[in-house]
Amino acid sequence: MSFSKEVKEELSRHIPSGRHCCIAETAAIISLCGHVKISSQDRFSVKIHTENIAVARKYFTLLKKTFNIVAEITIRKNAYLKKGRTYTITVNNHEDALKVLTTCKLLEDGDIVENMSISDNTVIMNSCCKRSFVRGAFIASGSISTPEKFYHFEIVCNSYDKAVQLSQLIKSFDIESKIVERKKYFVVYIKDGAGIVDILNVMEAHVALMNLENVRILKEMRNSVNRKVNCETANLNKTVAAAVKQTMDIKYIQETVGLSKLPEALRQLAEIRLENPDVSLKELGGMLEPPVGKSGVNHRLRKISEIAKKLQEDNSLA
Ligand SMILES: [Zn+2]
Repeated sequence: MSFSKEVKEELSRHIPSGRHCCIAETAAIISLCGHVKISSQDRFSVKIHTENIAVARKYFTLLKKTFNIVAEITIRKNAYLKKGRTYTITVNNHEDALKVLTTCKLLEDGDIVENMSISDNTVIMNSCCKRSFVRGAFIASGSISTPEKFYHFEIVCNSYDKAVQLSQLIKSFDIESKIVERKKYFVVYIKDGAGIVDILNVMEAHVALMNLENVRILKEMRNSVNRKVNCETANLNKTVAAAVKQTMDIKYIQETVGLSKLPEALRQLAEIRLENPDVSLKELGGMLEPPVGKSGVNHRLRKISEIAKKLQEDNSLA
C-alpha cells in the first residue's frame, strides 16, 4: 500500500467525536471534491467521486452519523485502469441535500456559496474543526509521497481562491505551504519533512506520523554516514593523487638526469618513495635514516617536485 493510501486509511477510521468537527470534515470533502446538481425542477443532489474506498467509507459514515442520511453508493469498474474502481456517493433526496449543504454553510439563501468556497465559513471557527477540515480536504483530494523517496504533501483545489484559503488555514497551525498551478488546478503543497510531520499531527494521523518520523531518523543517520564517508573518500583521493604525482616527478628525474644527481637527503627519499608508492608521508619519514617528521618529508617532496619541474622546463626549451 502506498504511504498516501496508508494515511487515508488511518484517517478514514478517525471519526471526530464532536458534531461540529464532523460537519467541518464533511464540508471539506464536499468543497474539495463534491458536485452539486440542480435539476430543472430546482431539486438538489450532492455527489462525490473517489477511487479510494477509505474515502468513500469515511464520507458515507460522516453523512450517516452527522445527518442521519443513508447515501447511495455506486461502484464502477474503471475501464482504463483494469484494477481501478470509482465509488460514487450521492445524496439524491432534495431535502437531505439541502440539509447537508446548509449545515456545511455551502448553501446560503438557496444559493451555492461562491464555488463552495471555504472563506469565512463558520463551520471552521474552532481549532478542532479546522483540524477536521484539513483532514477532510486531504482525504478528498490530497496525497503524500512515500517518505523514503522524498517529502511531498499536497491537496489539489479546483480554484485559486480555494487554494489560498486552504493555505491560510494551514498557516493558522504555523505550517508554511505553497501554491502551484497544475493544468486547470491549483495545488497547495508542503515540501519540507518538518512541515509534513506537523500537518500529519494537525490531521491527527498519529500512526503515519510515527512511521514518517522513523524514516526521517533513518534518513538523517544515513546522510550523516554518507557525509562522513564522502569526506574520508575525498581526503583519500587527495592523498592518492599526491602520491601519484610524487612518483611521476621522481621517475622523470630518474629518466633524465638520474637520481644520483639529487642531494643525498632527497635521493634517499626518492628511492624509498618509488619502492613504497602507497604509504603515508608519516610512514615514509619513519623509513628515512635518520627518521624525519611528516612536515620534513613534505618539504623534501616539494623540493623534488621543483627539481622535476625545472628539468621539464629546461627540456622543453632545448
Ligand atoms: Zn470541532
